[in-house]
Amino acid sequence: MSDKIHRTYEAMGIRREVLALGERILSELSERFRNIDEIAEICQMKVLSAMQKNRVSEQCFETSTGYGYNDLGRETLEAVYASVFHAEDALVRAQITCGTHALAVALAANTRPGDEILSPVGKPYDTLEGVIGIQPAKGSLAEYGVTYRQVDLLPDGGFDYDGIRAAINERTKLIEIQRSKGYQTRPTLSVERIGELIAFIKGIKPDVICMVDNCYGEFVETIEPTDVGADLCVGSLIKNPGGGLAPCGGYIVGKKEYVEQCAYRLTTPGLGKEVGASLGVNRSFLQGLFLAPTVTAGALKGAVFAARLYETLGFGVVPNGTEERYDIIQAVTLGSPEAVLAFCRGIQAAAPVDSYVVPEPWAMPGYHSDVIMAAGAFFQGSSIELSADGPLEPPYAVYFQGGLTWYHAKFGILMSLEYLLRERLAELPKTE
Ligand SMILES: *Cc1c(COP(=O)(O)O)cnc(C)c1O
Repeated sequence: MSDKIHRTYEAMGIRREVLALGERILSELSERFRNIDEIAEICQMKVLSAMQKNRVSEQCFETSTGYGYNDLGRETLEAVYASVFHAEDALVRAQITCGTHALAVALAANTRPGDEILSPVGKPYDTLEGVIGIQPAKGSLAEYGVTYRQVDLLPDGGFDYDGIRAAINERTKLIEIQRSKGYQTRPTLSVERIGELIAFIKGIKPDVICMVDNCYGEFVETIEPTDVGADLCVGSLIKNPGGGLAPCGGYIVGKKEYVEQCAYRLTTPGLGKEVGASLGVNRSFLQGLFLAPTVTAGALKGAVFAARLYETLGFGVVPNGTEERYDIIQAVTLGSPEAVLAFCRGIQAAAPVDSYVVPEPWAMPGYHSDVIMAAGAFFQGSSIELSADGPLEPPYAVYFQGGLTWYHAKFGILMSLEYLLRERLAELPKTE
């Protein structure tokens, strides 16, 4: 390690011992990083090939206004997404405000009063509780007579096949499968396991719609849920597939008839996909998708590095430093509210934007407890950018993700440790 690097980090507030520990951990990760790079390379070719096949051209960067009829860029973008996901159709819009909105559109569009939604993988993401009506909420699907059922994962993280078989009934219309653990400590599902689950469910009820909440999973593996039988796959553009350049938006890809339903729900019956001005975002959406495999790889390296580092320091981490990854989220159990605050403040202090502000916990809409969020991001709430969220409740875990570049992710993680050390909430191993 050159002295120049040491001095560079020191000038940025990272003590020598912290960098030295980081470097020691990195030296054990070269094989992992090579693996991550190879996945990114395969995904890069997948995206590039989709762009070539669908003839992305300079004209695609033009914008539409008003109704947004005949928007070549928007139509090409959607064709590119469909190709990347090996799906029949796609809806990729700035008018989809976030991942929750994309999921809400997909759920509402493909159910009718009397239908039932089943989650065979336990409780869905917090913000969906109001959408579905698991928690009473104005305008929830429950208010429209759509019911909900859930089968939890087994204690070892496996699927409860007997429970799932028993839960599927004549009203079961749509299966909601969340790939990522979200704010939980259950394991994230690999695409392969999602495929096994879908095959089992289709074996019981072939015409049920299998929808995957793909948030944080895109480009972490070389295949996506639509490659293993998912009828719909849904996510946010301020996470992986936006590549850090999409300023907002969400996507829905899958079977044509179900995507069409989504379009009629997002705009109006009769108008569907034909309308929706792109307002200048086509270039950012396309360029962001182009960068997404590399950006996701950087975020993954950050997650693996954080896992190994915090594991070495004696903290609980999910996933651990050596297991396979299926999303970019890293959970670190810090054990106290003070440590959660310090970790998040370290991440914030490492940010390119708003590095001088001190994040405070607040009652975020859609979440159960107060949450502290560190996000010095170019786009509000963008979690493909380096960010950390910590709900202030036991076991006092932080959920850490993103990093538009690996170097920034590394710096942020070292800074989080620096902040913990300053408040004596962590201790360096004796050897450092
Ligand atoms: C982030 C996330 C969502 C919701 O996305 P928003 O853009 O925050 O609305 C839904 N599901 C999972 C698993 C997520 O990680």
